[in-house]
Amino acid sequence: MKQAIVIGAGIGGLAMSLRLRKLGYAVCVIEKNEYPGGKLHAIEQDGFRFDLGPSLFTLPHLVEELHQLFPDQSVDFRFHAKSTACHYFWEDGTVFKAPTLPADFVEEAHEVFGESKKRIDLYLQKSKAKYNLTKRLFLERSLHQWSTYFSLDTVKAIINAPFLGLTNTLDKENQHFENPKLRQLFNRYATYNGSSPYQTPGIMSMIPHLELELGTYYPENGMHRISQSLYELAIKVGVEFRFRESVNRINHSLERVTGVSTNKGQHKADVVVSNMDIVPTYEKLMPDIKGPQKTLQQERSSSALIFYWGIARKFDQLDLHNILFSKDYQAEFDHIFNQKTLFEDPTVYINITSKETPSDAPQGQENWFVMINAPGDYGQDWEEMTARSRKNILQKIKACLKVDISDLIQTEHVLTPQGIERDTSSYRGALYGAASNDKFAAFLRHPNDNKRIENLYHVGGSVHPGGGIPLCLLSARITADLISRKR
Ligand SMILES: Cc1cc2nc3c(=O)[nH]c(=O)nc-3n(C[C@H](O)[C@H](O)[C@H](O)COP(=O)(O)OP(=O)(O)OC[C@H]3O[C@@H](n4cnc5c(N)ncnc54)[C@H](O)[C@@H]3O)c2cc1C
Repeated sequence: MKQAIVIGAGIGGLAMSLRLRKLGYAVCVIEKNEYPGGKLHAIEQDGFRFDLGPSLFTLPHLVEELHQLFPDQSVDFRFHAKSTACHYFWEDGTVFKAPTLPADFVEEAHEVFGESKKRIDLYLQKSKAKYNLTKRLFLERSLHQWSTYFSLDTVKAIINAPFLGLTNTLDKENQHFENPKLRQLFNRYATYNGSSPYQTPGIMSMIPHLELELGTYYPENGMHRISQSLYELAIKVGVEFRFRESVNRINHSLERVTGVSTNKGQHKADVVVSNMDIVPTYEKLMPDIKGPQKTLQQERSSSALIFYWGIARKFDQLDLHNILFSKDYQAEFDHIFNQKTLFEDPTVYINITSKETPSDAPQGQENWFVMINAPGDYGQDWEEMTARSRKNILQKIKACLKVDISDLIQTEHVLTPQGIERDTSSYRGALYGAASNDKFAAFLRHPNDNKRIENLYHVGGSVHPGGGIPLCLLSARITADLISRKR
């Protein structure tokens, strides 16, 4: 049997291990941490359970698809659709509980923001059309194979380029709306791939379609169940895992991969797939190979500063996903992407899984995941910035929810961009690999196959098609397709 090695057990690496196994390889996953999942991990502290990383689950069929690769091996993975996407709050008392059904969204948004129904509906229809036109080209295939460019989807996407909004920013696209709060709400979708609405192209206005038509979901027992269930399935189908082992070299001979070296020894392989961020993969694992500079120098996506708080009471006005908006969104993104610092009036995201899984918090209490967007780690003083932001976040919560929660915090855990890089080797702690602040970003992302070393491949959020759980899963699907076509 041919041997495959996967470097890293993030969601991309786990998906890849299953797909390689299905292709008939003997698969070994080498992971430096003592647990699988990478960013999709969880902790328990003082009776509270916290998902550490992702909180929004879309396109669940991509996870189901992996479970269905092995119909004889059932592993429990259940999820349900949410009828409310998010609760939005502004300091002036405006509250918008966004429904996930487009027709309900239009009604509710008209009611709260006074925006014409026709205008909102037109925007959502355009969002859907953009998504359907581009998903096959940008998300589901390799952008680096000639066959992609000769397909009907490509021709359609190119013909419709002006409509796609590639030359506009998302913020300009959203000036479609008269109400500035609704504009701010739709600008927020830029953060779904760690970009700025004032720089990312207007094509990102397709993202609301994901949430409002295709839906948002919650995996039973939390986001961690996604990575755990894939890990359990991988074990069942015979994937070998080597935890607490760090790959420090990708070995090759005559420009063909031969295996890897780790802190514990050498492993031979016919195929190697790296799930490590692409920048350290080149810098640390193949210093002898000159990487594609434009790709490696691409601006990184935003990172995050997260407080995991056990809260001593329940808040009925909050749901699973909640956003407390900044009064000056443009200044906030200028701080993050240009000044590489944190804004004093941040937009605060609060995720509370105990709303869906009550056992995630002691009775009568809630587990709050409180996140603000942050610049990557460029050597800033994170201790000082974290202390300052903690005060600003508490202030924002007080201004929007009219409650001072300082004395309600029972337990606290904090994750900074430095911590994210330490735990997962993501360059500068970026959440989504490269930012999409440039209209050519999609084309500059590293391909899933390595053009310099044969039989070396790359999956995960820092390579094509991009970051976030669904795209990482697609990266594994595209890579498996590339590998199977070569055999
Ligand atoms: C706070 C936060 C919030 C997020 N919110 C969302 C969200 O709501 N929805 C969403 O879809 N996405 C979200 N994301 C993004 C999402 O988590 C990532 O895009 C995705 O999990 C990345 O997966 P990955 O496979 O690229 O690898 P990672 O999760 O980065 O894992 C890489 C793995 O490789 C291992 N590794 C690295 N180098 C080596 C080495 N040399 N040897 C051995 N092992 C190595 C690491 O230890 C790690 O386990 C969020 C991320 C964070 C951090």
